[in-house]
Amino acid sequence: KPIVLSGCQPSGQLSIGNYIGAISNWVKMQETHDCKFMLVDLHAITVRQQPEHLTAATLDGLALYLACGLDPDKSTLFIQSHVPEHAELAWILNCYTQMGELNRMTQFKDKSVRHSGNINAGLFTYPALMAADILLYQANEVPVGDDQKQHLELSRNVAERFNNLYGNVFTIPEPMIPKVGARVMSLQEPTKKMSKSDDNPNNYVGLLEEPKKIAKKIKRAVTDSDEQARIYFDPAEKAGVSNLLSILSTTTGRPIDELVPEYEDKMYGHLKKDVAESVVAMLEPIQQRYQEMRNDPEFLQQVMKQGADKAREKAAETLKDVYQAVGFVPYP
Ligand code: ATP
Ligand code: MG
Repeated sequence: KPIVLSGCQPSGQLSIGNYIGAISNWVKMQETHDCKFMLVDLHAITVRQQPEHLTAATLDGLALYLACGLDPDKSTLFIQSHVPEHAELAWILNCYTQMGELNRMTQFKDKSVRHSGNINAGLFTYPALMAADILLYQANEVPVGDDQKQHLELSRNVAERFNNLYGNVFTIPEPMIPKVGARVMSLQEPTKKMSKSDDNPNNYVGLLEEPKKIAKKIKRAVTDSDEQARIYFDPAEKAGVSNLLSILSTTTGRPIDELVPEYEDKMYGHLKKDVAESVVAMLEPIQQRYQEMRNDPEFLQQVMKQGADKAREKAAETLKDVYQAVGFVPYP
């Protein structure tokens, strides 16, 4: 089976962007792929986190993974810091990643504007850690949202560079970016992507939010300022409306072309009401299962232990090959 790896940062509550752009696709891949899904806490601390929030967000994230349908008997589910090989390989790959390459990363640029008081080295070398995550498992495919495309390209380049120097140590991973839902946009600023760590909570919908709150956020979503309040799909001209149509399409499973005619002579309010209902309906069973999982700490412990132990086996194998390739003397 092809190997798949992906993850979310416990940098806040997982959002519908994470679900639509990533997790919902992971669930399907479990049947056909050897899947490894992590909560990447090492990545999360590239932005300052309050320790108790990080702990809670990691456990919430694991419970949400399970609630969304990730199955610990089919997939390897683990927490990144439980597998020390991630940090170890990341160091090595840092030494094979150029400053110039990292300088071109748009996520670094965006996040250093948003977190201008803490532009740390980890934020800059984030893509080297991400390359380590992927290459440790010799992943063939990496299902991510559109925002991670650039990082994945960098991972491929670093892997190729390493292989050219030392032989075929790493599998070169392929990006898997969904055709619809790869970029769920912010509700208040629909020209930028929805992010769970956004300062303004009205920009995103968390997977654990109450139906009333979800409806309120969607009702308040920015549509546009043009005179004619017409509903059609055009992300360049009608970013807000197009985002709502995309969300409706991914949550109902109906193509946008089929939805648009139904709103021909309707108002924005109608569309928003339908989007809210559809999002709430999608989240209802997830929230219910989440409660069950989160109230069973022993089960969560067992899942994360089983996952980390399994992940470590494969990770240690790759790391050993890498150490040998670069010329480190083996531990006697
Ligand atoms: P942060 O703001 O802390 O970076 P985030 O919301 O961007 O959080 P990540 O943990 O960085 O979430 O990303 C987890 C996964 O979700 C990745 O595969 C990423 O591509 C995907 N993803 C993130 N935001 C979106 C979005 N707006 N639309 C579609 N996919 C997304
Ligand atoms: Mg992100």
